[in-house]
Amino acid sequence: MATLLEKPVTVAKDHYLLKIKADKSGSLPGQFINIKAGEGFDPLLRRPFSIFNAHEDVLDVVIRVIGKGTSLISRMEPGFIDIVGPTGKGFTMENDKNLLLVGGGVGNAPLLYLMRALKENGNRLTYIYCARSSDYIFLEDEYRKYADELIITTDDGSAGIKGFATDVMSHVISDGKFDRVYTCGPDPMMHRVVKLVHENVPVEVSVENYFGCGVGLCVGCTVDTVDGYRRACVDGPVFDGRKILWENMPR
Ligand SMILES: Cc1cc2nc3c(=O)[nH]c(=O)nc-3n(C[C@H](O)[C@H](O)[C@H](O)COP(=O)(O)OP(=O)(O)OC[C@H]3O[C@@H](n4cnc5c(N)ncnc54)[C@H](O)[C@@H]3O)c2cc1C
Repeated sequence: MATLLEKPVTVAKDHYLLKIKADKSGSLPGQFINIKAGEGFDPLLRRPFSIFNAHEDVLDVVIRVIGKGTSLISRMEPGFIDIVGPTGKGFTMENDKNLLLVGGGVGNAPLLYLMRALKENGNRLTYIYCARSSDYIFLEDEYRKYADELIITTDDGSAGIKGFATDVMSHVISDGKFDRVYTCGPDPMMHRVVKLVHENVPVEVSVENYFGCGVGLCVGCTVDTVDGYRRACVDGPVFDGRKILWENMPR
């Protein structure tokens, strides 16, 4: 049994923070939970959300409202919440390395928990946080806690540097400067991040494909890779960014 501890709190335009006391303790950065939105059969499918942060048996999740499921979840009352997980393949951990993280929009959500874990392992972290505008930046102070360097970019220049994360990244990155790169956000952004990273440097991406069943049975969330088709829900959502055939990603 999982419990929503309080009403979802607004943390940015259309973005809400949920605090969930989970029945299954233990989670890894990059994993997600599947939440049932609403009480009946509509929507039928659970909605997947990355773990934004975790404290013992409490999981924090940030949701951006874009449709019926997220709208219902954003209006939930405290009490019982039907979740499956945490599940999925998370990010690779590093120790005492120089690392770059690049997040776009709500794709910043899984990178906070990752950043906290990486910081605890003695890594030096540079974080590029990209949002549409200042209204959409959520929980900036949390990111400042763990980043050695936090660079904010907005598409319209209303906060930080005007432009896309990848515009800034092309200045920040130089051969050999980073030992590993992590990214989550819109597919075109992640694809560009992968292309910018030197070929000797590992780059991990967390994909946000549409899910069907969310447990690997329906094959609705396949990702085309150089090793064949992979299911985002059970083989991911974290993948080696160089193995994805980006031109075949669903639009
Ligand atoms: C592994 C994973 C982790 C995720 N983590 C988060 C998270 O931390 N926070 C968060 O807010 N969202 C996250 N998402 C996305 C989230 O699951 C979807 O936004 C949600 O399922 C939409 O449900 P809905 O009923 O509100 O929208 P729907 O009514 O289903 O769709 C509304 C509109 O959004 C489009 N849409 C819906 N889902 C997606 C998608 N995955 N990609 C592109 N377009 C889509 C639809 O085409 C439609 O136009 C994650 C997705 C995955 C797969």
